[in-house]
Amino acid sequence: MIFTKHIKPYSILLLSVLLIGCSKSQKLEVKSNDIYLKILGTIQDGGIPHMGCNKKCCKNYFLNQNRRMGVSSIGITNLKYDTNYLIDATPDVNFQLESLIGSANPSEKLNGIFLTHAHMGHYAGLLNFGRESLNSVNIPLYLMPKFHDFILNNGPWNQLVTLKNINLFEINADKELILDDNLSITPVQVPHRDEYSETVGFVIKGKSKKALYIPDIDKWEKWNVSIVESIKNVDYAFLDGTFYDQKEINNRDMSEIPHPFVIESMKLFDDLEIKHKNKIYFIHLNHTNPLLNSNSKEYKYVVSNGYNVAKEGLELKL
Ligand SMILES: [Zn+2]
Ligand SMILES: [Zn+2]
Repeated sequence: MIFTKHIKPYSILLLSVLLIGCSKSQKLEVKSNDIYLKILGTIQDGGIPHMGCNKKCCKNYFLNQNRRMGVSSIGITNLKYDTNYLIDATPDVNFQLESLIGSANPSEKLNGIFLTHAHMGHYAGLLNFGRESLNSVNIPLYLMPKFHDFILNNGPWNQLVTLKNINLFEINADKELILDDNLSITPVQVPHRDEYSETVGFVIKGKSKKALYIPDIDKWEKWNVSIVESIKNVDYAFLDGTFYDQKEINNRDMSEIPHPFVIESMKLFDDLEIKHKNKIYFIHLNHTNPLLNSNSKEYKYVVSNGYNVAKEGLELKL
């Protein structure tokens, strides 16, 4: 077990402000010492609108100049210490940090970033922390060993290290990292296209609840861990729901971009009691995924079977 603390001098000041009754306004009803997570985005790496898509799913976003739908990301807040953690730095990180910490200075209010893997949607947003944009100061960045070396040895990422915008820490699979009292995070390694880094999901353990976040995995069957048993051991499971079924994409070779189809996952989870199915939130949805439309028959089918589709802005206590 690794123990780490990032107590900065102003944390004491922030804590005292917190203790005299300052609390965030938010949808979830929280007490001053609560820990909660927030869904900051739910879409596959390419986001919505997806470059090059002229189908119904994306056309209106381009036409109306609507803001993108955020790529999959989770924020964690511990109100007791006024600490905030971000899982994945997506291309939408500017909106997502605003959603997590408001207009506060991220160098002061963001106590750590955890990255699942080196694919566009999960780490490209790191560039926003560099000199050309935020120019952050020593934000802790937690990475698996191969990912750590990749960032350290390749531009433009290593400039963030040399300019001390970020401060690298190595994490290891299945090693619990204690963040604050009653808050820890454990990386779980999963099979995926690991060109530049390992791929992990995270188990986030709060005061009374545990969440599992696996936005990308090739197929559940390729994993040496039982996803069914993992679901039983947590309170929330945010799982790869990239594609609903194989009919969804007809212009790409699906064997090059394997994901568990939602219908395959539902089949695998079929014997789970309803209380376990209720914990599951499909996330990391491709722009083509019919689950993005709550009026679709696919959405209604998934929800009527006890599952959830992750929604941006959802907050849950840990
Ligand atoms: Zn992804
Ligand atoms: Zn589209």
